[in-house]
Amino acid sequence: MPDTVEFAERPDAPRSHITLRLIAQDPSVTGDDGRILTAQVKVPWSRIEDGPRGARLHVVDYDVAADEYRKHPALVNEDAYAAASDEVLLTDKTFNAQQVYGTAAKTLATFESALGRRLSWSFAGHHLYLVPHAFAEANAYYSWEDRAVLFGYVPAEDEDDPPVYTCLSYDIIVHETTHAILDGLRRRFLEPGLPDQAAFHEGFADIVALLSVFSMRPVVEQALGRPGKNGRITRMHVHPDRLKAGVLTSVAEQVGRVLTQGRGPLRHSAMQPPPANWASLPQFAEPHRRGEVLVAVVLDVLVDIWSARLETLFSRPGNAASATVDRARAAEEGAKAAAQLLTMLIRGLDYLPPVEFEFADLLDAVLLADVEVVPDDDLGYRRLLIERFAQAGITRPRNRVSNVLEAEVAPQYLGINHAALRSDRDEVFRFLWQNALRLDVPTRYHTTVESVLPSQRIGPDGLIVAESVATYVQMAEMTAAELETISELPLPDGLDPDTPVQLFGGGTLVFYQFGRLKLHVYKKVDDWRRQLRRIEYLDLSGRRDRAKRLGYSDGSARGQAFAELHDTNLSSGEAW
Ligand SMILES: [Zn+2]
Repeated sequence: MPDTVEFAERPDAPRSHITLRLIAQDPSVTGDDGRILTAQVKVPWSRIEDGPRGARLHVVDYDVAADEYRKHPALVNEDAYAAASDEVLLTDKTFNAQQVYGTAAKTLATFESALGRRLSWSFAGHHLYLVPHAFAEANAYYSWEDRAVLFGYVPAEDEDDPPVYTCLSYDIIVHETTHAILDGLRRRFLEPGLPDQAAFHEGFADIVALLSVFSMRPVVEQALGRPGKNGRITRMHVHPDRLKAGVLTSVAEQVGRVLTQGRGPLRHSAMQPPPANWASLPQFAEPHRRGEVLVAVVLDVLVDIWSARLETLFSRPGNAASATVDRARAAEEGAKAAAQLLTMLIRGLDYLPPVEFEFADLLDAVLLADVEVVPDDDLGYRRLLIERFAQAGITRPRNRVSNVLEAEVAPQYLGINHAALRSDRDEVFRFLWQNALRLDVPTRYHTTVESVLPSQRIGPDGLIVAESVATYVQMAEMTAAELETISELPLPDGLDPDTPVQLFGGGTLVFYQFGRLKLHVYKKVDDWRRQLRRIEYLDLSGRRDRAKRLGYSDGSARGQAFAELHDTNLSSGEAW
């Protein structure tokens, strides 16, 4: 009888994941050996056809500028590029296809595992197209109309050099894929909103890109600098100030570096704490600059968590400067801290209101979601988040009841089918209608339940937290003069009272697995101070639709939203 049974496994056989070699950051970033820094990345398995084309992603390599179409072979676990030279990685278009597919698949998987369910795109259809050589420009963007993320390239000045492909930059692929995922989760965030809302799309896409790059150990090792002969580095190398000013900054400054159009690189300012009065400074009305406030807060939290994890690893306790730490272990802790923080932030997305986003909502949502999965804050992560957001002047909203269990009047369920509350929009509407007074939801405005989704998260004890999450949106249309009357507040200076305005409100209802409400996170449609702030911002930033109305979807194609963000950016005179 043989001792072992050998399985002759086909390279395309079903499995839990495939391992792909991907460029870890950007081809300009090299390792100790001077070669392009790459990482072995595990990507969840799905049956993959030529294209490559899997269940949710489809690489369409059509180059409009060159009028060329290529179908690349399916991806298999035996990675053809495992030992490929730098020259091959830089020039082989089939590798470009692997880089975009693998990176986007990994990004989608990160969101799905944090939120505990499959995520839909905001357009009809199951495939997001990834177009690695879409146009001859140093730009990349998500387009709702095309159901695609489009990547440009720039031919090199020297004919012998390969073109600069934006599709080879890990961080750019993650950033653009995050826009597509976020649009699927909160499609109303592309409506004309408060200044924080447009800033959130950019800031969060940068945060996910940075933390994803940073959750790869080779990147962190490289950023920590060369170790001594024994592979160790000193306490000085990992001092919190150095982690921030040197290590993280060197990674962050590469993000978006190859883009000359559109978003451009993250600037140094993103690594600095914003001035105390940033919210009222005109330059912070610009979405990219405003989004950097969130990036700076999250980077501070990352350094805090990482430093705490390093403390037990030093060769000598106390503050001895001569203490050393193994570079690979230090990098491992940094990568783990980044992955943990990223999961924590993504989990919060389900608890955001569906409209009228403000930065404080993110803090609130992340904390609420974290309590559900990790009831004790033994490691102090929630405390760190609260402190770092507070330093940037962002505190949890207080003017709303969000915890239904602490509410004075409990919701009632007479005639409500609990099981249907987990999947049926009409049942959720009935529940909302029945409890409108208890939940402080005005019924005079147009109200629609837009989504009802199940969610399962795994806590650190390995047990599953099951919930369902529903969102509803309220809308009101009136003239600016009517808004002035109803709010009893003055209109912004210079606003024509006859201007038609559209106002939004809405909320997120989180139910226990058995259909009992536990949280109601909402932005009231009749919060007139907020409505006037929004109208003032939209008026000042010139966001009117073709009929000169304020607050309406601006009538231009939806996919133009990101192009417009870039336009505002250009007109603000920033050097991007
Ligand atoms: Zn962007």
